[in-house]
Amino acid sequence: QPQQQQLQDENQLRKEKAKRKKEKLSSLCKTPPSLIRTRAGKDYRRGLFLGEGGFARCFQIRDDSGAVFAAKTVAKASIKSDKTKTKLLSEIKIHKSMNHTNIVKFIDCFEDDANVYILLEICPNQSLMDLLKKRKVLTEPEVRFFMTQIIGGIKHMHTRRVIHRDLKLGNIFFDPDMNLKIGDFGLAAALKKDTDRKYTICGTPNYIAPEVLTGKTAGHSYEVDIWSIGVMIYALLIGKPPFQSKDVSLIYERIKKNDYAFPEDKPCSEAAKDLITSILTTDPLKRPNLDEILESEFFKGEFPARITTESLICAPDYR
Ligand code: ADP
Repeated sequence: QPQQQQLQDENQLRKEKAKRKKEKLSSLCKTPPSLIRTRAGKDYRRGLFLGEGGFARCFQIRDDSGAVFAAKTVAKASIKSDKTKTKLLSEIKIHKSMNHTNIVKFIDCFEDDANVYILLEICPNQSLMDLLKKRKVLTEPEVRFFMTQIIGGIKHMHTRRVIHRDLKLGNIFFDPDMNLKIGDFGLAAALKKDTDRKYTICGTPNYIAPEVLTGKTAGHSYEVDIWSIGVMIYALLIGKPPFQSKDVSLIYERIKKNDYAFPEDKPCSEAAKDLITSILTTDPLKRPNLDEILESEFFKGEFPARITTESLICAPDYR
């Protein structure tokens, strides 16, 4: 089919582009100096390397008072085009406007000759994705606990007309007290009014809502974040995302056909299945809203008072 061929071509192009971008990035983004002096005359000391994404490298950084932050570092040489500059400025502006316990706190932003530094609250206990890799699946009480925090953060965004558009386990981090913080506003969009639509195809394959893939003319809105909540709940309980495949175009086909199942060897409660099924509805307007998700049967189950770092290693015993 020509449409499938087109998707495959786009897919191949996207992969090559991402690879070139990453190669270019790593050649451009040298490790920042051990002492970073901002133009305003403030000194920061660089610490450990924390990780890298498609756009930035992240380091630990310490100020004169001894406070530790994460510094998302973007090489200036990689933001020469107006389009990339606008994108970075938009990420900074949107992230700066957020203020919620479950969103990575934006601290400051500054530059030296080589880099732009985005100073963020440090989340040293890795992401939900790292947790899932180690644990394989989580218990339902843990998922209720984590999702309540995540939905709290998303509610803050949506009431401020911000759509995150890249919600996934790898973008949700643990702070030192095992509270979750949503990060990476690189694909976020701020709407001028609630009825505005967005048209850019973006996101991470496993988490993309069907209307992003099919709605080139109709556009998409807040409901794409709801869809990714469904994907995350499924992934945390079953151990892998619902539309998973090695081939990205097959993932897209499965998302468009709503082709997923609950494997019999990974039992989860009927309440969990009902909730996931209601969220992963192809028609965005038929999906539950954030309050309806929290009021669902699934969230009425056992709820841990708190989560400890023990969860990073094994399933907590709630008996
Ligand atoms: P990109 O926009 O390039 O995808 P991310 O925001 O995803 O960059 O950050 C890249 C990596 O840096 C993350 O995968 C994570 O390992 C690390 N990281 C990002 N933010 C923080 C933080 N606040 N605390 C600790 N590590 C972080």
